[in-house]
Amino acid sequence: GSLDDFDDCDNINVVVRVRPLNEKEQNRGEDSIITFPGQGQMLLEPQAENIKAKQFRFNILFEPEATQEDVLSHSGAKRMVEMAVEGYPCTIFCYGQTGSGKTHTLTGPPHLFRKAPDMYSEDHGLVFRSFVYLFQVINEQKDKDFLLKASYLEIYNEKVIDLLNPVQPEPGKPPRSLMVRWNKKKRAFFVENLFTVECEELDDLLAVLEEGLRNRAVASHNMNEFSSRSHTILTVYITSEQKAAEDSDVYISKLGKLNFVDLAGSEMTKKTNSEGKTLEEANNINKSLMVLGTCISNLSDPKKKTGHIPYRDSKLTKLLADSLAGSGVTLMIACASPARSNISESLNTLRYASRAKRI
Ligand code: ADP
Ligand code: MG
Repeated sequence: GSLDDFDDCDNINVVVRVRPLNEKEQNRGEDSIITFPGQGQMLLEPQAENIKAKQFRFNILFEPEATQEDVLSHSGAKRMVEMAVEGYPCTIFCYGQTGSGKTHTLTGPPHLFRKAPDMYSEDHGLVFRSFVYLFQVINEQKDKDFLLKASYLEIYNEKVIDLLNPVQPEPGKPPRSLMVRWNKKKRAFFVENLFTVECEELDDLLAVLEEGLRNRAVASHNMNEFSSRSHTILTVYITSEQKAAEDSDVYISKLGKLNFVDLAGSEMTKKTNSEGKTLEEANNINKSLMVLGTCISNLSDPKKKTGHIPYRDSKLTKLLADSLAGSGVTLMIACASPARSNISESLNTLRYASRAKRI
């Protein structure tokens, strides 16, 4: 049971979003060092610092003024929803340093979800908007029966924690973690004993999102950096069943999957030697992020993509393997800050993104 013999295809799409300068940065008198000459180009001009000006070009680039609805409509996210409904494994993930706008892009401000779910706001992120679109797509397909389920987990320090069913640890002990196993028959990795919730309508999916966000906040209560060091995966499982022909007794059933992944801050790949951590912790803390980087860069290199892709080296890449390889589809949203003080991290993110887009 190895994923190495999966057929690889060109299936990773990359878009970039640059957030506006925030109030804090403006109050500090920071300026934006990224300009947008048009046609997907972006120019980084660090001026003072010891870094040369750098230019990038992306097919899809969201400038700071772009709205949450723009991101849904122009990132390819709608196509991902449609493909998941058609039975493919799909992943949308946000990559970038802490504070670059990953959570904003995916969920928007968390307080929104404690209000009535039918209260539409400009700030609602890609998850909310994709859920709304998902029901639109499903409701148009009258010839199929659909069953939706959802799960929400967090990977911290290579431990998988169920955000829908968090077993409260004893005080001072880390949360109980779940096992990632290989299903021989389905040829896919899965999380053992992960709680999945059946969702009949939009409200049910939104309740899952809200519950997961609430539990994540509880888990991170005593740990400032928790959310910048952990990855979350919100998954919608879409089973469809359709008669082969109108008067047929043959049913065709398909299982598609849509993952929304809020990654740990990309700055963490380097800060693994910070003080006060055991060696094991330091090695694990962003193993997943580093392995994901290796998988994507190997997949984007024509010489390497047919060789060994190290999906098995981390929990995150095991769980995303079917979207990255085979018939799956992945959308990477690279998030960057325009502030001068973030230039080196923004450069890292854009390099990472341009490397991945060569796929
Ligand atoms: P990350 O999840 O990458 O650490 P956040 O999404 O929490 O970053 O964003 C950091 C801050 O910047 C938050 O206060 C967020 O509301 C704000 N922010 C991020 N992106 C945008 C955007 N496109 N427009 C307005 N504010 C944004
Ligand atoms: Mg975040």
